[in-house]
Amino acid sequence: MLISGIQPFTILDFPDRIACIVFTLGCNFRCGYCHNPEFVLPEKVREMRTAVISEDTFFRFLSQRKNLLEGVVISGGEPTIHQDLVEFILRIKKEGFLVKLDTNGSNPEVVQNLLDQNLLDYIAMDVKTSKEQYQSLVGRGVPAIEKTISLIRDNGVPYEFRCTLLRELHPPSVLASMAQMMHGARRVYLQQFRSQTTLDPLFESYHAFTQAEMEGVKEIFAPYCEEVFVR
Ligand code: SF4
Repeated sequence: MLISGIQPFTILDFPDRIACIVFTLGCNFRCGYCHNPEFVLPEKVREMRTAVISEDTFFRFLSQRKNLLEGVVISGGEPTIHQDLVEFILRIKKEGFLVKLDTNGSNPEVVQNLLDQNLLDYIAMDVKTSKEQYQSLVGRGVPAIEKTISLIRDNGVPYEFRCTLLRELHPPSVLASMAQMMHGARRVYLQQFRSQTTLDPLFESYHAFTQAEMEGVKEIFAPYCEEVFVR
């Protein structure tokens, strides 16, 4: 596994668990608002490759924290683009840790395979925009997104869908379409965009919704999803 970073401790990213986060290198999307371009753009990834953390280093880190951590969050980049993801998770499980996967939902077959093998204890999937707007936001066609939503939603493994929202990209019609795509979802988190470093510099001038506006956005999702949170 190409590991670009390790966050040694989190109580926020794996619900009800004390965990670490391992960041995998590379992504198949090009979201303009991405604030980790060094994990995504090929030229940056090439630079990062010289600084990847070896699996041995990561597993040494894990073995030293067996009594301190309960789980590992595998985040990116996009973890499902890596051929050795199954082996990587099997090794983490063998060490006795729970696994949460963060995914952009672009590879339903990979997610299905992981679910079939009972390798996941929690899944977080980003739902970025309406079906019609996906290609222009992420830079590629994504007919698979709805398939991944369905298989996560209809599986018994705990999950959440996460939506990062920007005033310029998410008018009410797009928000309504996103809510409908996730109909029946158990838990949805609406996240405010933060204009820091962005993959596309244009997005640095884009705007987050205010807290009050986010509460209004929540009302659009509420009829379709069991629990909707703003964070
Ligand atoms: S925001 Fe996530 S899915 Fe989009 S380019 Fe960045 S890492 Fe990839």
